[in-house]
Amino acid sequence: MSGPEVLRFAANLYRIPVEGGYFLVDAGLPWEARRLLALLKTPPRLLFLTHHHLDHSGGARALWKLFGLPVLAHPREWPYLTGKKPRPPLPVPLLGRWLANLGPPLPEEALLPVEEGEEVYGWRVVALPGHTLGQVGLYREKVLLAGDALRGKGLPPRLINEDHELARRTVRKILELGAEWVYLGHGGPLARQEVEALARRLGV
Ligand SMILES: [Zn+2]
Ligand SMILES: [Zn+2]
Repeated sequence: MSGPEVLRFAANLYRIPVEGGYFLVDAGLPWEARRLLALLKTPPRLLFLTHHHLDHSGGARALWKLFGLPVLAHPREWPYLTGKKPRPPLPVPLLGRWLANLGPPLPEEALLPVEEGEEVYGWRVVALPGHTLGQVGLYREKVLLAGDALRGKGLPPRLINEDHELARRTVRKILELGAEWVYLGHGGPLARQEVEALARRLGV
């Protein structure tokens, strides 16, 4: 299997080749931005954010400031990315809200909306709601980049899913897409049989 190139930060970031360059999926934590920028060398065509969580979007502002690139995200995630709404607190006593919102906010002018069914360099945008309500993935040739729709071989813990029931149903949706390989924000990738086993376990 030759999959997309994984950049290992607090979350897995992905470098997706396109003609004459590449684009980037997710941006890591804010304090990982320096390492990310050093590693990239050439500017990405765009940054695609799977969802608003700090470990995926925290480096977005630094990338935008340096490269002026468009940052694509689902409109449901925008209020958190721009700081208009505080992100839901992390499941940590007292400091949860503070920790979840350590990222520098993105100005709205940096953002471009993406919706299910649109294409990004030949990859189809797929809505994967549950972990966050506006989480999106990218699908092409039986490969799905799924953000935190799955984690390890299961779902992310209920405490960090905005709608756990919806997250369960998204597992079924991933199978119905026909994905053979699912690349994740943490751990993975998972083969189709592993996603099938999870769906059976969850009863979806
Ligand atoms: Zn997440
Ligand atoms: Zn994550």
